[in-house]
Amino acid sequence: MDANGEGRGPGEDLDVVDHGDGDASHANLRGDMNDFQEIDLLGQSRKLVLAVREMGAGVEEIDLEMGPGEDDPNFGPGNSEGNEPQGLLELTPKQQPRKKKKVVKKWRDEWAETYKWAYVAVHENTPRIFCSICKEYGRKHRRNPYGNEGSRNMQMSALEEHNNSLLHKEALRLQMASKDKGLGLIDRPLYIKALMSKSAESILEAVIKRDPHEGEFIQAVSEVVHSLEAVLSKNPQFVHVLERLLEPERVIMFRVPWVDDKGEMHVNRGFRVQFNQALGPYKGGLRFHPGVNLSVMKFLGLEQTLKNGVTSLNLGGAMGGSDFEPKGKSDNEMMRFCQSFMEELYRHIGPNQDTPCGDIGVGTREIGYLFGQYRRLTSQYESLLTCKSPPWGGSQLRPEATGYGLVYFAKEVLADLDKDLKGLRCVVSGSGKVAMYALEKLIAFGAIPVSISDSRGCIIDEDGFDFAKLSHLRDIKNHRKSLREYTKTHSRAKYIDDGKPWGVKCDMAFPCASQNELNHSDAMALVNAGCKIVVEGANMPCTTDALEVFRKSKIVYAPGKAANAGGVVISGLEMVQHSGRIQWSADEIDSKLQEVMKEIYLKCKKAANEFGIGLGSPESLVHGANIAAFLRVARAMLEQGCV
Ligand code: NAP
Repeated sequence: MDANGEGRGPGEDLDVVDHGDGDASHANLRGDMNDFQEIDLLGQSRKLVLAVREMGAGVEEIDLEMGPGEDDPNFGPGNSEGNEPQGLLELTPKQQPRKKKKVVKKWRDEWAETYKWAYVAVHENTPRIFCSICKEYGRKHRRNPYGNEGSRNMQMSALEEHNNSLLHKEALRLQMASKDKGLGLIDRPLYIKALMSKSAESILEAVIKRDPHEGEFIQAVSEVVHSLEAVLSKNPQFVHVLERLLEPERVIMFRVPWVDDKGEMHVNRGFRVQFNQALGPYKGGLRFHPGVNLSVMKFLGLEQTLKNGVTSLNLGGAMGGSDFEPKGKSDNEMMRFCQSFMEELYRHIGPNQDTPCGDIGVGTREIGYLFGQYRRLTSQYESLLTCKSPPWGGSQLRPEATGYGLVYFAKEVLADLDKDLKGLRCVVSGSGKVAMYALEKLIAFGAIPVSISDSRGCIIDEDGFDFAKLSHLRDIKNHRKSLREYTKTHSRAKYIDDGKPWGVKCDMAFPCASQNELNHSDAMALVNAGCKIVVEGANMPCTTDALEVFRKSKIVYAPGKAANAGGVVISGLEMVQHSGRIQWSADEIDSKLQEVMKEIYLKCKKAANEFGIGLGSPESLVHGANIAAFLRVARAMLEQGCV
């Protein structure tokens, strides 16, 4: 069996200690740790169990399984060596085109099962996945698993397809996981059942095929699909629901003409992606930023759908905005742009239809102009836009809600680790609505926030910000000055032009600026800086590569769709207050916010647990958030029929 002549028979006995909670553990976390590091982020267990998933409808989920060995019919010569049944080999030349198709189909079908019986073994002193089909260790496989069958071109392209397949990548992921889980200790092969289900792979491939250029959207979909594999495996009825969910219900794109202060005409593109209305009226932000495009709108629409799903709100998900650059625009220009934007948008929104709110580049001022124009066009003073100013229908604490909620969520994560924010060094990115209120709450809880940033650079203050420094920072941002100004009065602080804060010594990180702001090398820098927990304030601020670094380094990771949901929760309360013509106090709103953030955290934990992902897994919160949200939306979609 072992192509490298290691001579170990498949199915040999194996000493595996299973402590029973399905959490493969992480003995490597220890070493010389400081007080904070003493937290066993992965649940204190030292089990040597691979968290392995068996996919496909109707198949039992298991943690770890001994392989059946060479006598497994799946890997008999007929399958793995390409020996076809007699009939196929005896085809006459006339029938050959059919054979070609059949061969390719056979490859495809069987490769869907490639890693059904992959195994992890020690090879050259490291645990490696052995691909049972290719019979090779390592990353790229060089041999066609089906020997000489088919033409050379067919073989080459099939091999490439195999190496690039999601299944192969999944196997690599498991290989890395096996290293992380201390399998260097093993001296015999561990057989594992591991593969991405056909349904999950084909769902993702369909999305990629349909919109291959929508990078952000594909990234968001991949994460969700990956989290939902176990759900789909146990609930095949949800496969088609997920396929439907990933296609927005409606995409509206429109022209936004406007005139600047010099009388010159401009045109921008407006968007509203009404992603999913199964739980209630569409709800989601409006973003004015030059980086806005359909891919960004769709990813944010999907994130918002799931974010609203993970709360208890009866709100669907949407996102909109424009590729308009608000920087450098006068108040009048801003007003004219907002009016022109609403001139089209008002046809598609309403209190029971779609209720937008703010996001990047859209704050209380812009919402005011948008609301004014909507009111003029419809003669209705409706509970429609949120993030309004409190004196005329806004909610207390709405501007603060996302940042405060983020810190409340972080507190819940820490509480489960028996820790507190007090004295923890935190790096924060961004200096907008989310970042500044997160900073404020961190200071209030005695944490030591040491950075903020914007699109031009970042400030590092190793002494930490306090309320006086925060007020200075606010002043700088309100006057749209460079963060560099801060160093004029705080000489020990450092301004890094075009820089990011991720290399600064810290315990926790709060990326609060924008999507994909934290990449692979930033993640490495964070790990090296001692970071143990990442809590996302922005939507999808970490690239897929960065998440992989966190996973390998056992960094606890809280996804934005759960951690930054405080904003939409208070938007929900704003709608209730507006339609009831009432206003709750800041204290009432704040205690509701704390309660809801705790609820969301518990929901994520519970959902992950129900699908065998223990709190010890650094990915438990992201999987939990996706699962909890999806199940809520999916059940509603199922009950509402194929619409
Ligand atoms: P905001 O007030 O407009 O602030 C955005 C901040 O991020 C600004 O400081 C901006 O710098 C900075 N920034 C933008 N792109 C950047 C980049 N590529 N690199 C570095 N910095 C960058 O927006 P916000 O409302 O705080 O939103 C921030 C994030 O939170 C977004 O991902 C948003 O979707 C998410 N979010 C917001 C809410 C909410 O209630 N507002 C709710 C949930 C999630 P400049 O000042 O130089 O422009």
